[in-house]
Amino acid sequence: MPAPGSTERTRGRRIPENSVTETAALHHVLDAGLVAHVAVVDEIGQPFVLPVAYARRGEQVLFHGSTGSRLFRGLAAGQPTCLTVTLLDGLVLARSAFESSMNYRAVMVLGVATQLSGDDELDALACITEHLLPGRWLECRHPSAKERAATLTLALDLTECSVKIRTGDPDDDPADLVDPIYSRIWAGTVPLSESFGTPVRSDDCFADVEVPAYVARWRRS
Ligand SMILES: Cc1cc2nc3c(=O)[nH]c(=O)nc-3n(C[C@H](O)[C@H](O)[C@H](O)COP(=O)(O)OP(=O)(O)OC[C@H]3O[C@@H](n4cnc5c(N)ncnc54)[C@H](O)[C@@H]3O)c2cc1C
Repeated sequence: MPAPGSTERTRGRRIPENSVTETAALHHVLDAGLVAHVAVVDEIGQPFVLPVAYARRGEQVLFHGSTGSRLFRGLAAGQPTCLTVTLLDGLVLARSAFESSMNYRAVMVLGVATQLSGDDELDALACITEHLLPGRWLECRHPSAKERAATLTLALDLTECSVKIRTGDPDDDPADLVDPIYSRIWAGTVPLSESFGTPVRSDDCFADVEVPAYVARWRRS
């Protein structure tokens, strides 16, 4: 598999020091995220960006939608796509608005998705469930034939991708650091992290059914 950022289309040009070429970083970001954004251009040329649940399986990203969705059908028919996953790690407060930024880990994947079927599709559905809700596939009811017929499951190969990661302090304009007024402005980072809250029982859930241990363990960072 080509390294992230190794093709002409994915080579980092602007602020290239934030571009990362290690496959391990690509996997790390994809495994830590929950939501991907998938782009598709419809039949009259209008671009749409769909937020979707996803999972990584080896060197593929898997996601699913409704067979009733014209945009998903377009992806299954071979419309080229661009999928991104973004993890926001913090706000970066520079002295100037211009240099203020965000710390993040981001992945972009280019390609054409393929529709999965049969046992491969069922395995992909299990992967997506387990990525979002580790342990749930063992307990939940699996999709019926009718539910499977309503589901379009796609795989996008990680053959053309890029990874950008920004960490650390603001990168201020050197003139601001010696300016008698601007140098006195507070500067730094405000970390941001994603975590699950305390599980809330649904109104129709029996009161004597305990929160499963695997749910109580869910954390994310
Ligand atoms: C949370 C967040 C907030 C951001 N806010 C801004 C903002 O307000 N303004 C701004 O200009 N930029 C912002 N960026 C950076 C932005 O995503 C682009 O990286 C940047 O605009 C450079 O785009 P470019 O096409 O000129 O880069 P180029 O270096 O020309 O892009 C070359 C290739 O690098 C890859 N690439 C580019 N950006 C990314 C990315 N984010 N993740 C993975 N691969 C990438 C693609 O494969 C692309 O084809 C933000 C990024 C994140 C993750």
